[in-house]
Amino acid sequence: MFTSLSDRLTSTFKNLRSKGRLSEADIDATIREIRRALLDADVAVPVVRDFTASVRERCLSAEVSGALNPAQQVVKVVNDELVSILGGETRTLRFAKQGPTVIMLAGLQGAGKTTLAGKLALDLRTKGHTPLLVAADLQRPNAVTQLGVVAERAGVPVFAPHPGNQGAETDDVVGDPVAVAREGVAAAATREHDVVIIDTAGRLGIDALLMQQAADIRAAVDPDEVLFVIDAMIGQDAVNTAQAFLDGVDFTGVVLSKLDGDARGGAALSVARVTGRPIMFASTGEKLTDFEVFHPDRMASRILD
Ligand code: GDP
Repeated sequence: MFTSLSDRLTSTFKNLRSKGRLSEADIDATIREIRRALLDADVAVPVVRDFTASVRERCLSAEVSGALNPAQQVVKVVNDELVSILGGETRTLRFAKQGPTVIMLAGLQGAGKTTLAGKLALDLRTKGHTPLLVAADLQRPNAVTQLGVVAERAGVPVFAPHPGNQGAETDDVVGDPVAVAREGVAAAATREHDVVIIDTAGRLGIDALLMQQAADIRAAVDPDEVLFVIDAMIGQDAVNTAQAFLDGVDFTGVVLSKLDGDARGGAALSVARVTGRPIMFASTGEKLTDFEVFHPDRMASRILD
C-alpha cells in the first residue's frame, strides 16, 4: 500500500533539494504536486484541501522559508501533517476497570470482522488475557461456523447462539443477535473471561435495518470499544461508509484491514480525519498473526521513506 503515493512524494521532494531558498512559487508548485498525489491515492477531497492548506501555511512561515535546508523542512512539515491526519498519537485498547472489557466489531460484510475477531483474540491471549468470542452475526450463512473456526485457531472459546452447540450448522442458527450479545457478555462475566469480542453482521452495502441491529447491540452491551473494521481497498467509498457507521452506530476506533493489498491508501488517510476516530489496528493478511497496532508516526514515515 502507498507505493505510488510514496514514490510521487519522494520525487516531489527530490526536485526541491536542488533549490536553495524556496520562493512562494516553488512552494505552490510543490503543494500542487502533493495535492495531485493525494487525490490520485483516493484521499477524500476535503481531507486533501485541509492537508494542503495546512502544509502551505507552514511552508510559507519562517520555519521553512528561512531554514538552511528548506527541502528537509518541507518533508518535516508534510510528515507532521500526515501523522496528524492519521490520528496523531497511537491509541491502544481501553480496558474496563471492572468486569469484562467488551469490544464490539462493526463494518460491512467482507470487511474482515470475523478474521479480526480471531486476530484480536489471539493477540490478547498471547498477552495473558482470557478472551471470549461472541457470534452475534446471525445474518450471513456460515458466519457462526466461521467464527468457530477462527476461535479454534486462536485457541479461545466462542459463545454461539445455541449454548453447547458451537460450530452449529447454519440451518440451526436462529435467534436474536442482541440477546446473543447480551448473553455472551453475561457468560463472560460468570466464566471469568476478562475480554469479550462481539462479532456482528454486516451487509455488502449500507443497510438501515442492519445498522439499527448494530446500534441495538451497542445499546444492550455498552461496549468499552466499538471497532469499525474497514477494507482499505474500497478507496473513495471509505469515507461514506465510515460516516454511515459513525452516524448509525458510532465507534471508538477504526481497524484498517487488507493493508497487505495494493490499495492506494486513500482510506487510511481519510477515515481518521473525517470521523475524528483513531485508527487503532491494521490487518495485513489472512493469517491470524497478520495484525499490528497502528502507529500514525510509523505509517507517515513509511509513506515518506
Ligand atoms: P467479515 O464479513 O467482515 O466478517 O469478513 P471476513 O473476516 O470473513 O473476511 C472477508 C475475507 O477477507 C476473507 O476471505 C478473509 O480471509 C479476508 N481477509 C480478512 N482480513 C484480511 C487482511 O487483512 N488481508 C487479506 N489479504 N485478506 C483478509
